This record gives sequence, C-alpha cells and structure tokens, in this order.
Amino acid sequence: MAHKVQAAVVRSKNAPVTIETIIVPNPGPGEVVVDVSTCGVCHTDYSYIEGGVGDNYPYLLGHESTAVVSEIGEGVTNVKVGDKVILNWRAVCGECRACKKGQLQYCFDTHNAQQKMTLEDGTELEAALGIGSFAEKTLVAAGQCTKIDAKLEDQQDAAVGLLGCGIVAGIGATINTGELQRGETMAVIGCGGVGMAAIQGAQLAGATTIIAVDIDDAKLEQAKTLGATHTINSKNQDPVETIREYTDGFGADLVVEAVGHPETYKQAFYARDLAGRVVLVGVPHPDMKLELPFQDVFSRGGSLKSAWYGDTLPSRDFPMLVEQYLLGRLDLDAFVTERISLNNINEAFDKMNAGKVLRSVVEM
Ligand SMILES: [Zn+2]
Ligand SMILES: [Zn+2]
Repeated sequence: MAHKVQAAVVRSKNAPVTIETIIVPNPGPGEVVVDVSTCGVCHTDYSYIEGGVGDNYPYLLGHESTAVVSEIGEGVTNVKVGDKVILNWRAVCGECRACKKGQLQYCFDTHNAQQKMTLEDGTELEAALGIGSFAEKTLVAAGQCTKIDAKLEDQQDAAVGLLGCGIVAGIGATINTGELQRGETMAVIGCGGVGMAAIQGAQLAGATTIIAVDIDDAKLEQAKTLGATHTINSKNQDPVETIREYTDGFGADLVVEAVGHPETYKQAFYARDLAGRVVLVGVPHPDMKLELPFQDVFSRGGSLKSAWYGDTLPSRDFPMLVEQYLLGRLDLDAFVTERISLNNINEAFDKMNAGKVLRSVVEM
C-alpha cells in the first residue's frame, strides 16, 4: 500500500512552500521507505525554491535527516525495518572507475530511488538532493541510508541528522580533503554552517591555531565557542596579513574557503603558507570567474583542492562522527538553533536568509 503523508513542496519558482499531501510508493528493488524524525532547513533547499538548481517543479524539499526504516524493497541488505539511519544525497554504485579504485567517496555514478513520489493528482515530485525529507515518510535508495548503532536519545536526532549535508561538507573539507594534521594551523573564511563545521573538524583533527574569518561579529563570537583560537573581522582587518600574523608570519597550513567567491578564494590562496593547501567548499555562482597570477600558482607550490560533500563516505564517516558527538568532542547541538514544526517552514527560510540561525530543524 502506498502511503499518503504531509510534506513541504514548492510548486514554482519563488512560490511560498506549501504543506501538501503526497503519495510515497512501496519501495521497489534496492529502495527503502523511512519515517523521518527530523530535517534541517538548509540553503540548498532555498536554492531549489529560487530556481538555482533547475526548473523541474514541483520539488519536494528537505534533505538533512535522521529517520527510521519502515519498509525495505527486494534485495536490500544494508538496513532492516526499525534501523535508525542518517540519510545522504547519493548511494554509491560500487562499479564505476572511482569505486573500482576503492575511492567510493568520489563515486561518479551515484543514484537515488528509481520511483518518484507524487502529488495526489499524480504529478511527479523531484526530491531535493534525491531525499525530500520535509515529509513524514520518504522514499530513497537503500545506499542513501547509513545505520547508526549508537544509542541516541530522541532529543539528539535533530543534531545528528545535520551530519547528512552541511556539517560533513565542512568537517570533511578540513579532515578528508584538507588532510589537516595534529599541530597544524588552519583558517576558515566564511562562518556559516559549513565554515563552523570546518572549525569543529580542525579541533577534532588536533589543529593548534584555528582562525575564523567573517564579516559578522556575532558569527565570530560563536566560532570561538566552537573551537576558533583567533577571529578576524575582514571588514576591519586585512585577512591575509592578519592570518600571517597569527601564524608566525608564514600563513596557515590549510585555508578552507567556505564562501564560494573569487575575492575570498584569492584571500585563501595568499593566506596559506608556502606548500600549504587551499580547500574550496563554498559553492560559486555559474557566472563567476577567477583570475590569479599564474606564476604565483606555480611558485607558491602546495595544493588547491575542491571538496564536494567534504569527500565524505557516509558509511565510513557518519558512524565515526556520531561517536565523536556522543563522546563530547563534536558539538553538533550548537548547530541546532531552533526546533520547529513543518508548518513554520517559510519563517525558517526567512530567518536563514537573514543570517539569524545556523539551523532550524523540523521535528516530524
Ligand atoms: Zn561508483
Ligand atoms: Zn543541506
């Protein structure tokens, strides 16, 4: 029996999000239906609203979730009914050239559920990031579910579900892509949710100097509580000079650019030590161009990398990060600014766009 559930849908570009009845089909081969417990409100959901991702309206929004598996399709072996899981964007294929090299985190042929969820009139819904979890139930590929064995209190679902997107993008940019080592120095430019998570990643990796750069003093204050040892308001201070000052005149071993703008990328490029690393995790607009003196790219050495989803492999990284959270080493609770119901979702987008929250989390 297909299910009728309530869900948050955007029907056209820049339309308000509406709560609608949707149909979630029975899981087909390799698919599962989950009961969503929590879902974070993310900038990517807003990109779907404003047409930044495409125009396949209507979209079923939501993708940062903890859930419980309620039905499994044929051939599903990685989870069973009743398992608590964190959802991720993409199930790895296991067969492409990246997977065959053992680099499943780069899988070039990821997939989501084959079947579509629909509105009551049969209109097919496009699920945000292949998840669509601002809904009481959603349909995903089994590989989009990572089972969490650790004992979590229901209260902790909201924080843990955020690992599914922005938080692992930031932590992964530092640890996986940036390969930050104990005792190294790092700076992060841009202290939204992803930048704050990059700071937490630096603390987890054992960095000694962690420099937060932003133009908002309130965010910089919060960055300190999450592990930043130094802060720079780049409206008042030159970030490149000041990062050098805080690193004995050399620049940081790793600079994470969490804005996605050519100007801040150049700051990151010059704020790193010789042979240092830059990791771009901020998402640029399609019309942006980067210009750098080519000789500087050569002579400064080191590496310029981009982190897509923080080069995260959910099956490897999610359970480890949940353990770190339960051990008190990773402060996921700090990212949950407020808990709301599905009906308050439009207000939550307004607060997010005003920079007033790290995350509003919908509790189903
Ligand atoms: Zn693959
Ligand atoms: Zn997200």
